Amino acid sequence: MDAAAPHDEPESPPAGEKPSLSEELYLPEILKGLATTFKHLIRPEKFTVEYPEKKKPIPQNFRGEHALKRDAQGRVKCVACFLCATACPSECIHITAGPTPPEWTDREKYPTKFEIDMLRCIYCGMCEEACPCDAIELTSKFYQVSETREEKYFGKDTLLRQPMKREYPDQG
Ligand code: SF4
Ligand code: SF4
Repeated sequence: MDAAAPHDEPESPPAGEKPSLSEELYLPEILKGLATTFKHLIRPEKFTVEYPEKKKPIPQNFRGEHALKRDAQGRVKCVACFLCATACPSECIHITAGPTPPEWTDREKYPTKFEIDMLRCIYCGMCEEACPCDAIELTSKFYQVSETREEKYFGKDTLLRQPMKREYPDQG
């Protein structure tokens, strides 16, 4: 078996450079660490918030849960063109189109069923980008918890009930 190479041998301390007693006790480093700790203790700036009583502002471009919008007459704005479902990389939007009531003279179709499987959604915003009618929006809502998978399968009624971005006055 070969002898160990010279660079594998442990380095001995340079002659004449004995560490002082305080260095041997690590005192300077301990004091430096304590100074840093106390500096942060008395610092007025806080980086945490007491959620959920207090909430941090959410940027306007935050992408949270979806909402379907209504037009001025309170009807669903969606015209069931399927562009959002086609653009969705997760294939989690499921739409059934139906003919509009006779009094809806401005369009031929509307979604009789509009569902999003939120557990598959990756919040990419492609559906919002693809929509030619500004009918779907990713809101600032992110804190909705659920106990079952079914609750995260949003239907048309749930999507129409979602608050719009502008309904979050406390969020930047
Ligand atoms: S945000 Fe992305 S993944 Fe989610 S439904 Fe829209 S397109 Fe699909
Ligand atoms: S939400 Fe927009 S893109 Fe999706 S089907 Fe309705 S109109 Fe078309």
